[in-house]
Amino acid sequence: MASEAKSKPLVVITGASSGIGEACARSFSQAGHPLLLIARRLDRLEALKLPNTICSQVDVTDRPKLIEAIEKAVEKYGPVDCLVNNAGVMLLGKVQTQKPEEWQRMFNVNLMGVLNGTHAVLPSMIERRTGTIVNISSIAGRKTLPDHAVYCGTKFAVHAFTEQIREEVAQYDVRLVNIAPGVVETELLSHSTDKKIVDDYKVWKANMGQPMESEDISRCIMFAYEQPQRVCIREILVCPTRQDK
Ligand code: NDP
Repeated sequence: MASEAKSKPLVVITGASSGIGEACARSFSQAGHPLLLIARRLDRLEALKLPNTICSQVDVTDRPKLIEAIEKAVEKYGPVDCLVNNAGVMLLGKVQTQKPEEWQRMFNVNLMGVLNGTHAVLPSMIERRTGTIVNISSIAGRKTLPDHAVYCGTKFAVHAFTEQIREEVAQYDVRLVNIAPGVVETELLSHSTDKKIVDDYKVWKANMGQPMESEDISRCIMFAYEQPQRVCIREILVCPTRQDK
């Protein structure tokens, strides 16, 4: 392990180029952790200019490339103590009209991406008898919402496998944490292609008053992670106070 940042262990964050992932990167960095930041927009990762940080242009659906990036970071900073599986896409739509490619993209990123990351770090965590995997799900993984059918499908799945993996690795002192936010002001909505649905969502959000900020979620993540290893916060469901659904 390199001499820098020896005192705090390596944290890997996927989807760190905007929104919740970016806020999370800043929080973990401020707490003194060396980081591996992953996203497709490398310029956005590098613009954060965080110390002791490797920025890696990786699509989380590309398993070999994700593994390679993690291996390089481990070589430099030592084993991964925390993986935040945050990268995700929300493409709202009605199933009867939405392009199937959009369903596929959500399944690839929201499900396969999270599994790829988990698969890359879990064996070492089990072997070392420590580690934390934080999966960013959603309130859409707890209840269904209009125009969210497939997105809900992906997030319900994240809840399901997070809890089952947690049960299976509890005996090794490895923690699985599910963070399920309601509406957060990020770039997430901007990828949906159905203009009417996006406009309706914006009205709903405006009626809510103040949605949450990415920092509200990174604070929850830090709270869960910074508990002693004997404490596993299994889930945090956190929403704007005025969110009605
Ligand atoms: P953003 O759109 O701001 O951030 C999404 C991040 O995921 C970006 O950094 C993006 O980076 C990355 N990403 C997307 N696809 C890929 C990919 N194939 N490979 C690698 N990285 C990828 O949205 P949020 O911050 O809101 O979203 C973060 C997580 O929070 C998601 O899982 C989302 O479902 C969840 N969430 C968000 C809520 C909200 O209201 N905002 C509510 C509940 C949950 P890049 O494009 O550079 O690759």
